[in-house]
Amino acid sequence: MSLFTKCDEYTLARETRAAGIYPYFVPIDESTATECRVGSKWKVMVGSNNYLGLTHHPRVLEAAQCALHRYGSGSTGSRLLNGTLALHYELESRLAAFLHKPAALVFTTGYQASLGTIASLIGRDDHLLLDRLDHASLVDGARLSHGQVHRYPHGDFAALGRQLDNLPEHADTLVVTDGVFSMEGTIVDLPALVSVADQYGSSVLVDEAHAIGVLGPTGAGTAEHFGLSDRVELIMGTFSKSLASVGGVIAGPAPVIDWLRHHSRALIFTASMPPASVAGVLAALDVLQEEPERRERLWANTHRVADGIRSLGFDVSPVQTPIIPVLIGDQMRALQVWRALFDAGVFTHPIVPPAVPPNSCRLRVSMSAEHSDEQVERVLEGFAKVAKEESLARRV
Ligand code: PMP
Repeated sequence: MSLFTKCDEYTLARETRAAGIYPYFVPIDESTATECRVGSKWKVMVGSNNYLGLTHHPRVLEAAQCALHRYGSGSTGSRLLNGTLALHYELESRLAAFLHKPAALVFTTGYQASLGTIASLIGRDDHLLLDRLDHASLVDGARLSHGQVHRYPHGDFAALGRQLDNLPEHADTLVVTDGVFSMEGTIVDLPALVSVADQYGSSVLVDEAHAIGVLGPTGAGTAEHFGLSDRVELIMGTFSKSLASVGGVIAGPAPVIDWLRHHSRALIFTASMPPASVAGVLAALDVLQEEPERRERLWANTHRVADGIRSLGFDVSPVQTPIIPVLIGDQMRALQVWRALFDAGVFTHPIVPPAVPPNSCRLRVSMSAEHSDEQVERVLEGFAKVAKEESLARRV
């Protein structure tokens, strides 16, 4: 068997391309916070994580532009060496305060923040306990660590308790969870998780990727939403969603952060976050904190779209976050519905295996505070058109 046989045998992309239902790597020619142009057609973007719609905010763009001119287009080096700007430290202290932690460390992506924290902290005799639906960056961090990895069924804290109970009495343990599960749009039951972790003296890490800017009285995420920021030792976040840029952060006790600063391979062996991105995140954080009404608008848009899609006969559960999964079932059907929506000017994502079980394929719709009433209407009109075609197709 040649190394490359699997590549020749991988036909799904070719088949779906030929059928015109290949949904990935769609080249966007131009964009606003809420729309994108693909070729000559503008689509309403409901497939991004731009929850607060800050990617095109004048203050964010201006801050990024100033940093670009002041520091240049790239840092051309590791944080450890020439890649630390005063701006990186400024962002770290802003984020530590925002996430209610003594210290924070900024990575070049959120993926690297997960990897660089978990893989570095967890040693040979330590135990990691992960929810089965945890994000790939957390799972990959666990794989790269030398620790013992245990996965518990999604949200099953009784099972988590049994796994903790089976470990050696003085083992060091870290329970790792998404704050918001990105394919489901659901919020972790953090009080229940923490109560089990407390029982066994386990530390907790929460990935707040989809919760920052969305949940909590000041938008700091799930831990703040539940009033548990003090109990969660490590808070991980990304800048690729509400903070409208790219990059990631881990926040926690000062000695832990300082240790990671000097031991995290995903921090040290890669170039630092580019100046324009750091400045953009700082400005986005200002807007997030100064304009809490954006979150209200986000919820209003989310409810209107979720209720509207549901009333057209689609299977939509009550929403907990701006992520609205629309259950379709079969994979081919999900790709066809995705394509029909795309043609109707609505940019969504099909979620298919291995991200979800084979018969639970869905479309993922995610809302932004910046969507206008007119755009919300266009999304619902797109779904209405598809619902009509679907029911006609079912009748023939
Ligand atoms: N955690 C979760 C839950 C995510 O959804 C993502 C991004 N999809 C990441 C981590 C990684 O973040 P980034 O895009 O900043 O690398």
